[in-house]
Amino acid sequence: MTTANISDLFDHNRVWAAQMERERPGFFTSLVKQQTPKFMWIGCSDSRVPANQITGLDPGEVFVHRNVANIVVHSDLNALSAIQFAVEMLRVEHIMIVGHYGCGGVLAALHGTRIGLADNWIRHIQDVRDRHRSLLESLPENRRADALVDLNVIEQVVNVCVSTVMVDAWAAGQKVSIHGWAFGVHDGLLQDLKMTVASPDAMEHLYRDAVDSVWAARK
Ligand SMILES: [Zn+2]
Repeated sequence: MTTANISDLFDHNRVWAAQMERERPGFFTSLVKQQTPKFMWIGCSDSRVPANQITGLDPGEVFVHRNVANIVVHSDLNALSAIQFAVEMLRVEHIMIVGHYGCGGVLAALHGTRIGLADNWIRHIQDVRDRHRSLLESLPENRRADALVDLNVIEQVVNVCVSTVMVDAWAAGQKVSIHGWAFGVHDGLLQDLKMTVASPDAMEHLYRDAVDSVWAARK
């Protein structure tokens, strides 16, 4: 559906709300009481990567945080507050960091393209690029962008795992798994990057294996 203007959005909204209520009477009144999502999605703001549609989840089933290139920075109070709320208040069981192939932020970081203010944000992905420079340079040039998408996700999984929120949650025995996924805009499919961390002790070897897999899949 191609949306032409703002008034169409309200038209679509009324049709959608009526259809939901017709198919599942009481759907909205049940949502009013409480949200109890089991999942938190940390993804890119890119309009081609909508969390609910990709995973078939309804309103109320996934708590979403999105920013340019799905980055979790230790000083970003927005992301950390969202993670804390999800873990401590909603008690989600799974947090997935979801990158996507063809990500403009990752491409800009890889090629050092200047965008403007966002350069400072994308600098975090350049740090990932620089950390894995020898791996990336050993790959054919046309596979480096996809590899950096994967590596960025893997590094952001680590950032979530070592956040104070997760350190405290795991120390208290809370069951939360952090996952690293990548979405194919070209085929609509999610890839599991085999970086699912359910406890702090598991992180180190999972990280090494996941990084090795990025290289092995594209060499
Ligand atoms: Zn993106």
